[in-house]
Amino acid sequence: MNAKLNGTVVGDMPTGLALLHDPLLNKGTAFTDAERDAFDLRGLLPPHVHTQDEQVVRVLNNLRKISDPLEKFVALNALHDRNETLFFRVLGDHIDEMQPLVYTPTVGLACQKFGHVFQRPRGLFITANDRGRVAQVLCNWPYTAGIIVVTDGERILGLGDLGANGMGIPVGKLSLYTACAGIRPELCLPVMLDVGTNNAELLNDPFYVGLRQRRITGAAYDELVEEFITAAREVFPGVVIQFEDFANHNAFRLLHKYRDRICTFNDDIQGTAAVALAGIFSALRVTGTKLIDQTIVFLGAGEAATGIADLVTSAMMAQGLNESEARRRCWLVDSRGLVVKSRSDLAEHKRKYAHEHAPVDDFQTAIETLKATAIIGVSAVGGAFSQSVLETMAKLNERPIVFALSNPTSQAECTAEEAYRWTGGRALFACGSPFDPVTCDGRTYVPRQGNNSYIFPGVGLGVIVSGARHITDDMFMTAAHTLAHLVSEADLEQGSLYPALPRIREVSAHIGTAVATTAYKNGLAAKPQPDDLFAAVESQMYDPHYHSYV
Ligand code: NAD
Repeated sequence: MNAKLNGTVVGDMPTGLALLHDPLLNKGTAFTDAERDAFDLRGLLPPHVHTQDEQVVRVLNNLRKISDPLEKFVALNALHDRNETLFFRVLGDHIDEMQPLVYTPTVGLACQKFGHVFQRPRGLFITANDRGRVAQVLCNWPYTAGIIVVTDGERILGLGDLGANGMGIPVGKLSLYTACAGIRPELCLPVMLDVGTNNAELLNDPFYVGLRQRRITGAAYDELVEEFITAAREVFPGVVIQFEDFANHNAFRLLHKYRDRICTFNDDIQGTAAVALAGIFSALRVTGTKLIDQTIVFLGAGEAATGIADLVTSAMMAQGLNESEARRRCWLVDSRGLVVKSRSDLAEHKRKYAHEHAPVDDFQTAIETLKATAIIGVSAVGGAFSQSVLETMAKLNERPIVFALSNPTSQAECTAEEAYRWTGGRALFACGSPFDPVTCDGRTYVPRQGNNSYIFPGVGLGVIVSGARHITDDMFMTAAHTLAHLVSEADLEQGSLYPALPRIREVSAHIGTAVATTAYKNGLAAKPQPDDLFAAVESQMYDPHYHSYV
């Protein structure tokens, strides 16, 4: 008999224990009497049939008894491995509570402890030893992948090289694709390219899950990536490949190498850019000033900083500046100080923001000298937005824009409380990891996360719906505008620069529609254009409620 997964035929329907052990199909105690008869489940389940709503309450009751976030992560993972529909129902219905557990900040801790809390594999581990047989490995995946999130684990959040332990990131991101944009779970394939690790602690950890060797580099590395990309496209035609948490020296290179060849993007560079730009647009609605009048100083000069600066540059050019004028409004500060033309130590990706200016050693002096209107922290240096930095921003600006985007929470440049307290409640603040509302001088502010999860799920959805052959900067620009338009006056009133997270499926449906529209407009779409694109996008979104199998 064929299995119907929420109405879609997915192949032979397993029966008995095999059905209970299939996480995509399992409903646990919610299998109806008719299903128990049809699929040989009688006696394998306790007799009472629960509703999915009751199961949700049971999961939440148990989860909320746990105080340690890592243990909550493990419990949620176990649910994911047991019953995906229920997992996504819990995740989707309680996204504010669950996203910090399946993604940042808890996922950072889970990656650090990955080998110690490991229970069941998810996704594919492709290693440096698989050269010559990567396609064969991909064929071991039992479903047709529509989206792959791949990492080599070299720059996991702001935590550095975590090797194969970084697998927690693709797994978490893909959970958000499903929870936030309704991408069907069976289309989602997490991939760890295990090329070794240079993290000595992990290499000496008996529970480390990856290859016990230092990273391969140079031609050997590039050949493995190339084989993976080629094989993935052969085995899963039309697949979207998202690069995630690669270190600088590979991230920019791989993006430039593949972006015009295949359907790919780098979320750390492009997704971050769109979410940050959307936050800036929201902040400007409050300041009443124009984007082209801003001076934005970034702490950090890596993937996030240059990605955001590039998209800000494009947005300023759309408002009439030429490229060099626009770039001059974006300044980077790295660990050696302000990025200026006279420096001879600059990596390629920083050079377009190396302006003529006297050297400046520290961030505080840089913002004073440049009269920053906005500071964006993407340095992974926890606490770098000190009291005096924030007070300076408050002195320079009536409403300073302060984004502390680094993850996880321990790496955030400042907390929400610090941002509001040290600017007298005037900061227009966004954060990378979640912070609770803050009351300052009798006013309560609700900071929201400038988190990529507002962007990448919707982008993926739009790309899948349209069958886009490439993912372009235009698509991230339209995603940023779409997200910003969904921020209400009431949001701004309470200091929120993003919509509430529980609106995320609506947000993703709008971004998906906007991205697909861009794909059709630019001749990149392989699928025919539906008359009502928004309705078509919504109709393709996975709904994690049980559907009858009989
Ligand atoms: P990256 O490694 O590419 O860049 C980090 C940059 O910080 C580098 O340029 C480095 O030179 C600089 N840096 C290091 N120490 C510094 C110091 N003391 N002073 C100034 N600069 C210093 O990493 P990335 O991808 O750009 O990510 C940076 C951070 O942003 C990470 O914590 C990441 O988790 C976070 N991030 C958050 C989001 C989000 O959605 N909020 C998205 C992307 C990245």
